[in-house]
Amino acid sequence: MEGHNDAIWGHVSVRRPGEDVFWIKAAGMGLEEATAANVQLIDLDGRRLLGPGIVHTELPIHSEIYRRRPEVGAVVHTHPVFATVLGAAGHRIRPVTHEGALFFPPDIPLFDQTTDLILTRELGEAVAAALGDQPALLLKNHGIVVAGRTLEEAACWACLLEKGARAQVFALALGAPAWTGAEEALLKRKHIYHDQALAFLWQYYCRKLRRQGMLS
Ligand SMILES: [Zn+2]
Repeated sequence: MEGHNDAIWGHVSVRRPGEDVFWIKAAGMGLEEATAANVQLIDLDGRRLLGPGIVHTELPIHSEIYRRRPEVGAVVHTHPVFATVLGAAGHRIRPVTHEGALFFPPDIPLFDQTTDLILTRELGEAVAAALGDQPALLLKNHGIVVAGRTLEEAACWACLLEKGARAQVFALALGAPAWTGAEEALLKRKHIYHDQALAFLWQYYCRKLRRQGMLS
C-alpha cells in the first residue's frame, strides 16, 4: 500500500531476539500475500532451519547486516520506484517534505558496486559496510535497504523513505526545490519521528491493513 510492492520481489526480515537467526517470507509470493504459514527461519549462512518453500536469493543482504550490527532487529529490502529513481539519477534523499529529515543529515549511502542482485556473502558484506550505522541505503538501479532496531521501526522508516522520495521526485520535476537544512532536519527528526510517533504510525498501518481485509 505504501509503494514497496513489486509483485513477487522484495523481502522483510526480523531477527529472533538475541540470536543470529531471522524470519523472512519464502520466495515466490508478494509481500501482501505472505502469512505466518509462508515464513522461514534462516541462519546467517543462509540455511533454512524452519518453514516451507524456496528461499530468496538475496538473503546475504539480511544476514550480513545482522552479522555486522547486533542492534539491528529487522531489515527491509524492496524496490520502491521513487527512491530507486532518485538513486539512479544521482540524487540523495533531501527533506523536501518532513520524511526526508529521517535520512538527512548525513546522506544515506548509495551502493554502486553493482546494480545486479546481492547474491554472495562478499556482496552482502559490502552492502552492510556501505550502510555502516545509517538507517537506510540506496542500491543503485535496484532498490533500497532499511535496517531498524525493530520490525516496526524498519517498516515505518521504509514507508517514510518512499513517501519522501516521491515528493522529492515531483519537486525536482518542477525545478530546484528548497529543502530543510541539516540543523532543522535533526530537530524535525526528534519532534516528528520519535519512538512514540513511530509506534502510533505502525498501529495506523495495521488498522489500514485491517480495513482493506489484509490483516485479521
Ligand atoms: Zn532486490
